[in-house]
Amino acid sequence: TKPDDHPVQNGQSLRSPICCIMGHVDTGKTKLLDCIRGTNVQEGEAGGITQQIGATYFPAENIRERTKELKADAKLNVPGLLVIDTPGHESFTNLRSRGSGLCDLAILVVDIMHGLEPQTIESLNLLKMRNTDFIVALNKVDRLYGWKTCRNAPIGKAIRQQSKDVMNEFNRRLTEIITQFKEQGLNTELYYKNKEMGETYNIVPTSAISGEGIPDLLLLLVQWAQKTMVKRLTYSEDVQCTVLEVKVVEGHGTTIDVVLVNGVLHEGDQIVVCGMQGPVATTIRALLTPHPMRELRVKGTYLHHKEIKAAQGIKIAAQGLEHTIAGTSLYVVGPRDDVEEIKEAAMEDVNSVMSRIDKS
Ligand code: GDP
Repeated sequence: TKPDDHPVQNGQSLRSPICCIMGHVDTGKTKLLDCIRGTNVQEGEAGGITQQIGATYFPAENIRERTKELKADAKLNVPGLLVIDTPGHESFTNLRSRGSGLCDLAILVVDIMHGLEPQTIESLNLLKMRNTDFIVALNKVDRLYGWKTCRNAPIGKAIRQQSKDVMNEFNRRLTEIITQFKEQGLNTELYYKNKEMGETYNIVPTSAISGEGIPDLLLLLVQWAQKTMVKRLTYSEDVQCTVLEVKVVEGHGTTIDVVLVNGVLHEGDQIVVCGMQGPVATTIRALLTPHPMRELRVKGTYLHHKEIKAAQGIKIAAQGLEHTIAGTSLYVVGPRDDVEEIKEAAMEDVNSVMSRIDKS
């Protein structure tokens, strides 16, 4: 392993899109994440996939390799894809970046055997509220009676192997689920039949157990992002960074886990975060990412970085972070900035975060 195998994103005009996984309990959110992470485990460091703080990073090269059977001739303009590790509502509601959703897009997991469930609808409402686009993973297709497993195959290929009976059941359930979405005011369609991308949301049938449809899901996520979100994904020096968690780590004191959505952070940068008792101005002592070698990761050793570019999940060590409020933005004080002004800006979104905490 190279000493630092984190993706170099210099010279790239787009940053990696950030994706989170939503859906009802037991639909397979966790399993799906494991599945998209694990396919290449036998190839050393999982085909360049890196474990980050709070997220998993998939380099474009890995996505290209895993989707080559789709012959999509995919031109990938983004350096990769960052998938948030904690599925569900909570991370999504906490993951904000200056008032809007931190996630660029989401995977909404629906169990093909159960259709839309209460938390699917809650997720839909959150996504609508944040104006976040999503792709439906119609999961557990392997549970259709008589399904023939085609490990990690594109869904089209897998579907061609199935019997008439399986396809009848598949189509019946699919139609029912499309109707349920319509009742929620949303048009959805199988992605390879979808001619009105944008107005009609895409459905990708998947199995998180045997991997059918996972190549399609990965490719669609990246293509969708780079096609419709160029402006949002353009790399900018303007730092956009959200605090996920506050944690005490042996040897580092209180640290914050953040997602750097855009821009670059340096060791020694002066930053402002929101604290329970008001804004805290401090200096980045260390920028940390998990060790790429599994054994060392278990022991809790981190790689130190002089600078890190977006989009990435990072741990930051600094003094005075004890009372930082998760879900708020981190600000960098530039050489020409007025610290007091930044402190005020930093406290602006605290109220909305606090009111959410009160409610829950
Ligand atoms: P979560 O609550 O949405 O994170 O759901 P989990 O990932 O924990 O999955 C719930 C259960 O469904 C577990 O027992 C999984 O093994 C199972 N499961 C998840 N995805 C699939 C799938 O694609 N096919 C089958 N047969 N079972 C699945």
